[in-house]
Amino acid sequence: MKILVIDDDSAVRKFIITTLKRENHTVFEADNGTAGIQMFQDERDFDVIITDLIMPDKEGIETIMEVRKLNPSIKIMAISGGGKVGPENYLVLADALGANATLRKPFSGQELLMSLKLME
Ligand SMILES: [Mg+2]
Repeated sequence: MKILVIDDDSAVRKFIITTLKRENHTVFEADNGTAGIQMFQDERDFDVIITDLIMPDKEGIETIMEVRKLNPSIKIMAISGGGKVGPENYLVLADALGANATLRKPFSGQELLMSLKLME
């Protein structure tokens, strides 16, 4: 699959990308929602977008809403370790706004791949 990974944490991005590439996915990355939306509009034919929720500049909830508007059928996975109120609230919100899957950080490579499989 062609997958776009959006996360402001470079270590998390690297971990996700390494995991996905090992499974032969084609992976693009962005470090915030603005860059992610730009990449999404340039490339278009992504199968899945994996986005962090708490990011500077443009955060994940807004990113999910914009991506949904541009492509109602694309698969979106929201990932979060949460902020002050804990990850659940953010993930529930992401789910309500159209994420197809949510995953709480920290997660293993296996959990990520399983979650990806369940979205198919
Ligand atoms: Mg973040």
